[in-house]
Parts: sequence; structure tokens; C-alpha cells
Amino acid sequence: MIKLDAGWTFDNRYARLPERFFSRVSPTPVRAPKLAVFNRSLAEELGLNEEALRSEAGVAVLAGNRIPDGAEPLAQAYAGHQFGYFTMLGDGRAVLLGEHVTPSGKRVDIQLKGSGRTPYSRGGDGRAALGPMLREYIVSEAMHALGIPTTRSLAVVTTGETIRRETELPGAVLTRVASSHLRVGTFQYAAQWGTKEELRALADYALERHFPGGEETENRYLFLLEQVIARQAALIAKWQLVGFVHGVMNTDNMTISGETIDYGPCAFMDTYDLKTVFSSIDTEGRYAYGNQPYIGGWNLARLVESLLPLLNEDEKKAVALAQEALDQYPTLYHRYWLDGMRAKLGLAEAQEGDGGLIADLLGLMEEYRADYTNTFRALTLGEYTGMALFDASEFREWHERWQTRLSQESVSREEAYERMRRHNPAVIPRNHRVEEALAAAVDDGDYSVMERFLKALADPYAYSPEQAEYAELPPPSDRPYRTFCGT
Ligand code: AMP
Ligand code: MG
Repeated sequence: MIKLDAGWTFDNRYARLPERFFSRVSPTPVRAPKLAVFNRSLAEELGLNEEALRSEAGVAVLAGNRIPDGAEPLAQAYAGHQFGYFTMLGDGRAVLLGEHVTPSGKRVDIQLKGSGRTPYSRGGDGRAALGPMLREYIVSEAMHALGIPTTRSLAVVTTGETIRRETELPGAVLTRVASSHLRVGTFQYAAQWGTKEELRALADYALERHFPGGEETENRYLFLLEQVIARQAALIAKWQLVGFVHGVMNTDNMTISGETIDYGPCAFMDTYDLKTVFSSIDTEGRYAYGNQPYIGGWNLARLVESLLPLLNEDEKKAVALAQEALDQYPTLYHRYWLDGMRAKLGLAEAQEGDGGLIADLLGLMEEYRADYTNTFRALTLGEYTGMALFDASEFREWHERWQTRLSQESVSREEAYERMRRHNPAVIPRNHRVEEALAAAVDDGDYSVMERFLKALADPYAYSPEQAEYAELPPPSDRPYRTFCGT
């Protein structure tokens, strides 16, 4: 029999960094690996062979039972502020197999999450439960389809083992694909425990990986900082525009690449409310929907502090440069958000009064407890049913103002609505549908609910007839939706 080649092409540059940044450790084999979900289109994009990955040898790799040629498994070291408190962390239940280079020359991290204990596991078992890994798969793929930078999910494998949480749960390993796993916390770690040379090596690696050409700028580390700040401003604006609540924006969960990472207690907001929190442990609302832009700035300030020694030999000058870069964040964020909101209302041009028009709509949505996604979906379709908001006279007045504003655009009304369709998703991964898909898969081994859901989520701007059911709201419940870190 001919053994199929999966197509792994590893070139592991992170593993060439100083030893301080990682520990070499292999995944712990699992008893009975079985492929639960596989991402065909991502595999194709990565130049990987589906048949080979689905074979016994291929699944063994995705489970951590076999190390493919060229991989150099390691756990990354990092630190982070968790709910405001600084601590040493590191990959406690994940292993980086290596950096895979795709046929088009793109470099991605291939990481197994839930792959067993590492030197950074502290008290944890290094494992992950099936439910949360499927959840990460669904939400990260939905985010990607929405056009939001994110890590992606190649596969979920069940382990044939159970793990102990509050109850016994089926174990799983997720193959996560990221343009890198460098975090704000990786730089905090280097600044706290590394030498200046080690910090510089990390920064050079980040520049080479994410911002090529940066070496030629006058101050490459300032350039790095400015780029990360711009990417995070853009990312968090996109979260706000679709109503995504990350849930645990600790500095170890904020990437340098500008991708969304770590889908733990995340969820999409139904009713528009700035105070929306889903995480059961976020009792203070630190990571509430309306607080995310502010927390983004807070986290970036931690990155700035970590990079100070590289910005200038003179500490005063370094601080001045850093402050100037950081001051850009709120301006950039607001510009991205405002442009995004304009697009949601079909506006391509900027006018003085647009901010007020948007704020007034959001104010009405809040007052009438309108569903965030469905409000914009209704504006896009011109179908105003099923929400108290649409019966309010203030809304009709607002609608008239908006129509007047639209008529001042130089493009046609059709083009404006086209624009809206591209910016207002018809479907998002609503919590009750995510839970439904997970329950079928985890409790009954039925993946068809999830597969159907994933199909609808794969093209959220299609406005296809099959997507209509996913716009339906959950039945009213007196208990707010809660997510758990699910580790
Ligand atoms: P997270 O909340 O997933 O961002 O994880 C925060 C930190 O806890 C990271 O260092 C993880 O590697 C670690 N961690 C989470 N769950 C486990 C686990 N079951 N075993 C070991 N470490 C874990
Ligand atoms: Mg994390």
C-alpha cells in the first residue's frame, strides 16, 4: 500500500529563538483517537491532503500520537495579565507542532490544543473537553467567514478518554492554525524575565513574521508597536460591529498578528446592550461588550511597557515615543468603527452628522431592547417585523432621517443596499444554536446539526433562504446566557 503524504512542510523559526521562550515537549498520546470534525477548505488552503489526514496515520498526528516529519513540538512560554493581575503562564495544554509553510508561501503555526501536560501546566491536566473544542471550531470558523481576522480550526479529534471537570467529559484535541501564537503576554514574559537581547530577538522574529519590511524603517521596534496597535484597533472595531464578546481579553489572549484568539467564554450579543457579559467568572464586567475597546487599549499599554527598552536608549525619549504611538489607538479605533457603522447603514461617504445618526439608532436599540444583528438585517432587507423597536414612532423618524442621508450619497440606492448586505450578516453563531449543535454532537454523537450550522455560517452575507431560520431568536428566558471557561 502506498502511504499518502499529508503535505506537512515545516520550517520552525520560533524553535530557533533563545531557549527561554519555550520548552521542548511532545504531546501525550491518547487512547483511541477518532476524527470528529475536519475542515476541508482550510486543509486545501494549507496545501494539505485530506485523504492522508483522514487516514489512521493522519489522525494520529491530529491527536498528538504521532509526530510528523519536520515537526519540533514545543510549548511556548508567556506571561499575562489575567483580569488585571500579572502572572506567569505558557502553553499549559497546547503544543506547537511547528510552522507549516503553505504552497503560496504563507507561514502558519500548527498547534494541538488539549494535547497533555507541559512544564507550564501548573495544576491543570493539560486536556480539553470535546464541547469547548467544538465551540472554538464553530465560532472561529464563523468569525473567519465574517471577515474577521482569527485563528482557525483544522480538525477536532476525540481522544477516547474522559477528563474530570465538574463531571466526567469526553476529551478532545483541536488543531489550531494561526498566523502565529505570539501574544502581548509573550513580550511581557520577555520583558519580565528575559535579557534585552532576548527581548530584541523576539521582536525581530515578530517583525519578520508579521511585518516584513519593518527592518528598513527608522525605528523598527516603534514600527512594530504602531502596526500591532493599528491591527488591534481594526480587530476590536470589527468585534464591536458584529456584536462579538470575547469574554476573556487577558493580555495572553491578545495576539501580535491582530487575529482573534482563544474562544473560551465568548459569545455573540443578542439584545443590544453595552453591559453584555457572558462569562460566568467576569463578575465585574471587565470584559463586557462596551468595555472591549477600552481594554484593548489597556492591553496595548502593557505591550508598550514591554517594548520600552528597545524604543530608545534614553528612557525619557522611549516613553515619549511609546506614548505617541499609544495615543493613536483611540483615534484609529474610532475611525475604523465609524467607517464600519457607516457601511452597515449603506454609507460610503463621510458626513459630519453621521456619528449622531448612528448614536441615535443605537440609543433606540438599547431603549427598545432590540436584537443587534436582526436590527441591521431588517434595515438591509427593508422588512420591519417582530421587534418593538420597529413600532416606535421615534424609529420611524430615525428611518426618515436615514433615508434622507442615503439620498445624499453619490452612489445609487441599489449600491447602498449592496454595501449593507456585505456588512450586515444574515446569520451569526447565536448561542442557543451553538448549544444545540454541541448537545447533539457531544451527547448523541450526531454531528449533522453542527455540519448544517457550519454551512450556514460559512457565507454569512449570502442571505440565502436556508439562513432564515438561524436569524430566529431564542425563546425568552429569565436566566441570562452564561458561558464557562470550559477548560
Ligand atoms: P486560557 O483561559 O485558555 O487562555 O488559559 C489560560 C492559561 O491556563 C494558559 O496558560 C493555559 O495553557 C492554562 N490552562 C488552561 N486549561 C488548562 C488545563 N486543563 N491544563 C493545563 N493548563 C491549562
Ligand atoms: Mg489563553
